[in-house]
Amino acid sequence: MKLTRRDFIRDSFLLGSSVFLSSIPLHAGQKKEIQWIPAYEKLEMEGKLAQRVKQAYALFEHCQLCPRKCGVNRQKGEKGFCKAPVKPVIFSYHPHFGEEMPLVGGKGSGTIFFSNCNLRCVFCQNWPIAHEGRGKEVQDEDLADMMIHLQKIGCHNINLVTPTHVMPNILNATRIALKKGLHLPLMYNTSGYERLEILKMLEGIVDIYKPDMKYMDADKAAKYSAGASDYPEVTKKAIIEMHRQVGVLKLDNQGIAVRGVIIRHLVMPNRVAGTEKFVKWVAEAVPKSTYVNIMAQYRVEYKAYDYPEIARGITAQEFLEAMDWAEKYGLTNLDQQSVSLRNFYQHRRSS
Ligand code: SF4
Repeated sequence: MKLTRRDFIRDSFLLGSSVFLSSIPLHAGQKKEIQWIPAYEKLEMEGKLAQRVKQAYALFEHCQLCPRKCGVNRQKGEKGFCKAPVKPVIFSYHPHFGEEMPLVGGKGSGTIFFSNCNLRCVFCQNWPIAHEGRGKEVQDEDLADMMIHLQKIGCHNINLVTPTHVMPNILNATRIALKKGLHLPLMYNTSGYERLEILKMLEGIVDIYKPDMKYMDADKAAKYSAGASDYPEVTKKAIIEMHRQVGVLKLDNQGIAVRGVIIRHLVMPNRVAGTEKFVKWVAEAVPKSTYVNIMAQYRVEYKAYDYPEIARGITAQEFLEAMDWAEKYGLTNLDQQSVSLRNFYQHRRSS
C-alpha cells in the first residue's frame, strides 16, 4: 500500500515527532514541498542526543545490550555470547538493491553489515559474518564516514544490519555523521531479539525498524537459535514497542520509506517458523496495515544440514499457504514482491 501525499501529511502531523513539513502551498496543482527531518536530528536539536550516546556507551562496561545479558566488560576486552569487541566490526557497506522496494528506490538502501550476532541461528545465511565475525574492526568515526559516503552516492537510508551488539557505536557514529551533514532515515535491521530497555533508548533516534519474526514457538527458537527459548515472547514485545515509537510505514512523495515498521518473516520448511501463528499475532497485536514481508528465500545454509526437518528449501505450496493465512487474517500491507511471487505460483498451478 502506498500512502497518498495527503495521508502522509496528515499522519506526519499526528505523529508530531520527527517528520516536519515546510510551508505547503494551498493552490491546487502547485508542487508541495516536504522537508523531512530524521529523528536523530530532532533529538540533537533538543540537546538530548549526546546524553543518549553517553548512556549507551556505559552499557559496554556490563554488557546487557541484548536479552543474553552476558554482563561482560567489553571496554576491558571481555567478550560475551556474540563475541563482539567494543569497536564495531564491519564486513561491508554498499547500496543494496535486494531489500523491500520502498527502501531501495532508484539508488539503493545504504547497507552496513556488522559482523558478529547475538542470536546465531543454525540456518544463518550470513554465517561467515555473523558466526565467524569476518570483517574489519573500525572506529566510530570510520562508521560515520561510511554513513556519509552512502548518503553521497544517493542511497535512501542507512540500513544497519545486525546492529544490536553495536548500538552504542551506532549512536556515537550517527551523531558524528550528523555534524557532517547526515540527513537520511536510520534503519534498525534486526533479528528482533531486542530488550525493551534498549529499544527505549533508541526512541527518537531510529526512523525505521525492520525486525524479523523468526519463530512463534519457544522450542523451535531454542533448537535453532542457540537456546534462545525466550525469542518469541521477547520479539513480540519488541515489535509492539517499535510500533509504538514509529508506527506503520510512511512513504515520501517518491514512494520511499521515511519512518515506520517493516516486519520480515521467513517461511521455513515443515511449518517450523509457525507462520499461521505469526500472521494471526500480527493481525491482533499491531494494525493490519503494518508492512509485512513474508519471504520465500529460505535456503539450506551453515548447520541446517544437520537438522533433517529444515534441510531443504520450501515448496511452492508452503509459500502459498503462508500467503493464504496472511489473507485469511486480514493483513493489508504485504510486500509487493511476495504478492507477485504468490500470483506467479498460483498462475503456474492453475495452468
Ligand atoms: S550484546 Fe553480546 S556481549 Fe552484550 S549481552 Fe548481547 S550477546 Fe552478550
